[in-house]
Amino acid sequence: MTARPTFIGLPDEAFVGGKWRTASGPTSEITDPANGQILQTVSQCTATDVDDAVAAGAAASADPGWCGLLPHQRARYLHRIADLIERDADRLATLQTFNTGKTFTETRALVGSAAATFRYFAAVVETHDEPMTTARGNYRTWIQHEPIGVIGAIAPWNSPIASDAQKLAPALAAGNAVILKPAEWTPLVSLALARLIEESGLPAGLVSVLPGRGSVVGDAIVRHPGVGKVSFTGGTSTGRGLAHIAADKLMPVSLELGGKSPTVVLDDADVEQAIAGVIYGIFSSSGQSCIAGSRLFVQESLYDEFVGRLIERTRSLRVGDGFDPSTRVGPLVHRRHRDSVAGYVDLAREEGGRILCGGAIPDDPALACGAYYLPTIIDGLGAQARACREEIFGPVLVVLPFTDDDDLVAKANDSVYGLAAGIWTRDYRRALALAGRIDAGTVWINTYKAFSISTPFGGIKESGLGTEKGREGIAAYSRVKGVYLGMDPEPNPWVPA
Ligand code: NAD
Repeated sequence: MTARPTFIGLPDEAFVGGKWRTASGPTSEITDPANGQILQTVSQCTATDVDDAVAAGAAASADPGWCGLLPHQRARYLHRIADLIERDADRLATLQTFNTGKTFTETRALVGSAAATFRYFAAVVETHDEPMTTARGNYRTWIQHEPIGVIGAIAPWNSPIASDAQKLAPALAAGNAVILKPAEWTPLVSLALARLIEESGLPAGLVSVLPGRGSVVGDAIVRHPGVGKVSFTGGTSTGRGLAHIAADKLMPVSLELGGKSPTVVLDDADVEQAIAGVIYGIFSSSGQSCIAGSRLFVQESLYDEFVGRLIERTRSLRVGDGFDPSTRVGPLVHRRHRDSVAGYVDLAREEGGRILCGGAIPDDPALACGAYYLPTIIDGLGAQARACREEIFGPVLVVLPFTDDDDLVAKANDSVYGLAAGIWTRDYRRALALAGRIDAGTVWINTYKAFSISTPFGGIKESGLGTEKGREGIAAYSRVKGVYLGMDPEPNPWVPA
């Protein structure tokens, strides 16, 4: 165990319309999930702060100092933000490990990916060509992408800064202002990012960061008439409620929602590679990942051997403090969330599941005050068991056997979700056929949780609406306008001379 760094807190202020101020709502305590201690307090924003942020965002996005910039000039701001994130990467990652419990290795990678996201969208906006469309008369036509105005960006607690960047970078690149609402439990790194954005010289008012409750500040952002689009990442039931409000406003929304992703091990898989991939797919981030491979399907002929080895390797994962470099599984984000995960495992027991490993809070006294839970593998459950159907969002894997590919597809698709899937096999023909048949927005073959900002990402079924990332990521924050330029020198002959 290495020594923990000293926690350096942030001033208790929200970034509202380009100014730092104490938020208008009550304060909440931000805790360290590794030991339950209070790190600092953060005041929560209310609808008043949203009003001010929207007014400032609307003014800043309409100001010629921003809307008059050419794409390569906007790109310069994104590069400056990326430079500052890279300069402060260790500090940001430390803050995020304190706030979320994630291992420092992971938070350092998330910070790196946030900087890379700003650079990627800087490159995209500089190289984004507006196509001429095919004319059907004596005119020229083309489309142009224009900013929407003020974007609401609502983020979950599991990967702040990376998810913040995935919304901020394309929205700014497209020429908008953004109001970012981090999750209640994890606002710190988003507030730190706001200070870097301010330092970058981005015109004031273009970015606001409003911590607070979803039902208060999140709801006010979604309902505000001045907000022209909301990009939401979070749970499916929250997303559904938000979509109803958006429908009333006729406002576009992007929804990145939950998952219960199947990972499939076929009888010809490279077993060593598949075991490592399955373990990483569910237990990295302590299972708190929308794309966690939380339902494992193993072909019957390989089942006993594979599951036996999986249990052995899972037991060797070190559970502990995220600052300890040997830790693989850190605490969950909060004791309340840990209790919800434990509740699902208790339910699985009642539903007839066999706990093959884990299934408990660790008994190490050094971890007693933290939000820890042991990596858990369960089998023997029926497909209708709640642990097989609902997103647990923790280090819990359910394992189910299958006979052949048709049986597998039926079982894997028997879910309301369709976010991701993993396939482990040496037979690429079989893999590609299955990839086409499984309901998922992303399919990984002989890898899992590999991510590239240049590849569009989104869920199907109840896992989401719309895609983020990729070159089209900018279009998601734009309005499209068709322009016709008449070339005829004569007056319109329909009107008598
Ligand atoms: P959540 O839905 O509880 O909250 C997400 C955000 O929405 C938070 O900022 C919250 O404050 C806000 N919110 C809550 N109620 C709101 C309301 N009525 N109006 C507006 N905003 C509101 O989700 P969570 O617990 O923070 O995150 C976990 C969930 O996020 C999981 O379901 C996970 O799968 C999902 N997730 C999805 C992706 C993806 O890309 N598909 C990525 C990460 C997390």
